[in-house]
Amino acid sequence: LIVTFWGTRGSLPTAITPEHIHAKLMVAIEGALERKLQGREQISHYIKNELPMEIGSSWGGNTSCLQLTSSSMPDHHLILDMGSGARPLGNALLAQYGPAHTYHILMSHMHWDHIMGFPFFTPAYLPNSRLIIYGCHAELERAFRRQQSPISFPVELAKMGSTIEFRQLEVDQWQSILDFNVLPKLQQHAGDSYGYRIEQGGKSLIYSTDSEHNVEDEAQRAGFVEFFDSADLVVFDTMYSLADSITMKANWGHSNNVIAVELCQQARVKCLCLFHHEPGDDDWAVSKLLADTRRLEAITRGAHKMEIIGAHDHLQLTL
Ligand SMILES: [Zn+2]
Ligand SMILES: [Zn+2]
Repeated sequence: LIVTFWGTRGSLPTAITPEHIHAKLMVAIEGALERKLQGREQISHYIKNELPMEIGSSWGGNTSCLQLTSSSMPDHHLILDMGSGARPLGNALLAQYGPAHTYHILMSHMHWDHIMGFPFFTPAYLPNSRLIIYGCHAELERAFRRQQSPISFPVELAKMGSTIEFRQLEVDQWQSILDFNVLPKLQQHAGDSYGYRIEQGGKSLIYSTDSEHNVEDEAQRAGFVEFFDSADLVVFDTMYSLADSITMKANWGHSNNVIAVELCQQARVKCLCLFHHEPGDDDWAVSKLLADTRRLEAITRGAHKMEIIGAHDHLQLTL
């Protein structure tokens, strides 16, 4: 199972600022001068291998969109959410498969940051493309149509050109899409969201974004520990730090890194992936959240060691 992240930011696409580029360049060039680097090869090695994420790169700014690729059927893809990351994904798939292809899209919920990439998903405009959109909400189709109603967008969904179908999934029931087995679970979020346990080729991935956890609700906790059980990868909504969650952002529908570590440790998850980064956090803040989370995992670790990574645009993982 191959996982490619095309959008990892929460709530709103976030562009890097000129001030941040300046700050990155200052640190990078100072380091290069200290090392007395010579030639393109040394410089390239330094940028790729010696600079931390917040200096040599960026966590990225597109909103939620993942691509899953089957390990046994390389042309079997499942797309998770249609945030602004769907625009580069659509172009990459189009270059790979040409204008006649079928796309399978699984939706966590229809908040704007999870559907806003759809009008810019180029394959949706091509007459020989077929799109099948799966989700658990009764309003699945209405949300997509409404986003492209004339007051908000120049091209209505019905005029996009491709064949677009909507399919309802049953909550708490295993269903198969292509080569993937999918189990949806209801999550606590305004208007509801659904997490998915996806299994393929003996590997398991949990996609659990836009989900708030109530630490006092033991039944809810047990349900998620069971849902996450021994997963190879859990993509978890860590929009906030614990301090944010318990002060001003309680009941905002998102989670924090502390509950993420707790639940994933209990479920003996192999790798926890921080996801849905707060749009107000710059690259330094996301790096700090990751470092803090790794420290927390080390301090609270029992017999089970868990890897912790941060999702970033264009990250690709093979499970
Ligand atoms: Zn969101
Ligand atoms: Zn949401």
